[in-house]
Amino acid sequence: MQTTFTLAQLADPQIAESEKILRACVHCGFCNATCPTYQLIGDELDGPRGRIYLIKDMLERDKPATDDVVKHVDRCLSCLACMTTCPSGVHYMHLVDHARVHIEKTYRRPAIDRWLRTLLAKVMPYPTRFRAALFFAMFAKPFAPLFAAIGLKPVAAMLELAPKNVASRDTVFRVYPAEGPRAGRVALLVGCVNDVLGSSITHSTVRVLARHGIEVVVPPETGCCGSLVHHMGREQEALAFARKTIDAFMREIDGEGVDAILITISGCGTTVKDYGFMLRGDAAYAEKAKRVAGLARDVTEYLARLRLKPTGEAAPLVVAYHPACSLQHGQRVTREPKELLSKAGFAVKDIPEAHLCCGSAGIYNMLQPDIAKRLRARKVENIGKVEPEVIAAGNIGCITQIAAGTTTPVVHPVELIDWATGGPMPDLLQEIVAAKPRNAVAPADEELTPAQG
Ligand code: SF4
Ligand code: SF4
Repeated sequence: MQTTFTLAQLADPQIAESEKILRACVHCGFCNATCPTYQLIGDELDGPRGRIYLIKDMLERDKPATDDVVKHVDRCLSCLACMTTCPSGVHYMHLVDHARVHIEKTYRRPAIDRWLRTLLAKVMPYPTRFRAALFFAMFAKPFAPLFAAIGLKPVAAMLELAPKNVASRDTVFRVYPAEGPRAGRVALLVGCVNDVLGSSITHSTVRVLARHGIEVVVPPETGCCGSLVHHMGREQEALAFARKTIDAFMREIDGEGVDAILITISGCGTTVKDYGFMLRGDAAYAEKAKRVAGLARDVTEYLARLRLKPTGEAAPLVVAYHPACSLQHGQRVTREPKELLSKAGFAVKDIPEAHLCCGSAGIYNMLQPDIAKRLRARKVENIGKVEPEVIAAGNIGCITQIAAGTTTPVVHPVELIDWATGGPMPDLLQEIVAAKPRNAVAPADEELTPAQG
């Protein structure tokens, strides 16, 4: 694609980077075939190629974002399916991140949008505030239809997604020693939303690792990685969260040392792995950011290196594996979660249209509830086709989003692996397992060959 940036514009490193990305695009449109919003809406401007044109025009003109650009960029899920499909290697993620920063700096949203976005940015990344907000949401939940009726659909979506119960704070920040001889040492990112909604995932992760000889440190100074605000274009806030996370992990890296930084929330994993790029212009942090990013692994990438020890106690349930977009497209981790589940004794099923987003996408399901609900309905329908007993997804956002649309339990793969290797059965599975005949054997999986341990 030809561009017309001036030399003065290209002196800005962010523009220079985006120009490189734009020039890689050959307009082929292959990406539209796998773009969820293009598939749903059918408008060229709601596909990656159309958005790339809009962003190019906005950046070249160096003018404030228009209503039209904001509408179509806001509808993008940042699911990155287009990056997996693109034959030319267009780095759409960095381009749309740049567009979001430009929009945030130059566009004045309607008052209600500004209020909602500020609320989300000032509450969700902070576990104490988020937990308090969820308590309010528990009581306000029955009024969700009322908010929808008066046009406050994002508020209605927030209430609908809020869990019915919120577990009390459960401090996890400390060192968890390995059971038996120590074979490794890792640091674990607990995150912000996951700290409130996914503490069972954190506990399962720690147990599985300790059981397999790995010491785990959960540094107390870590929290939000910056991902939530990063996707809203709030660049300085995102970088501040990133620097704080880097400082916390560097203390461990330079202290007792770690083999890896593990992340159980794939949305956060994609951002942490991109820290080197995000902080490339910060002389004080560029090197440290690269080191932290280089050590970041999804928990399943790390577990795949260990010799798992299934006890045979877990029921061989049929598991529909939902690959979170941030894991399959953002990090290209596709094989490990399924192989681990298979090795652990579960019958793993791939679902149709697995490349399509479930509609979660960070805070997208609250800001774009109509599209998010349509995507969830499509995802739940596809999952139903493989008749699972349980659904596994490696991202708390997907777990929350899918769980709101189905009665089939949704858990993190690591919770199943923990159970299969001697940990407790996930609470959500109690009923299903109780109803299953003790000697029931799940159908053999045809597509997956269990990896050798
Ligand atoms: S990130 Fe997802 S929604 Fe956005 S353009 Fe790419 S495929 Fe479409
Ligand atoms: S597939 Fe890649 S090269 Fe083709 S239009 Fe999409 S982004 Fe451009």
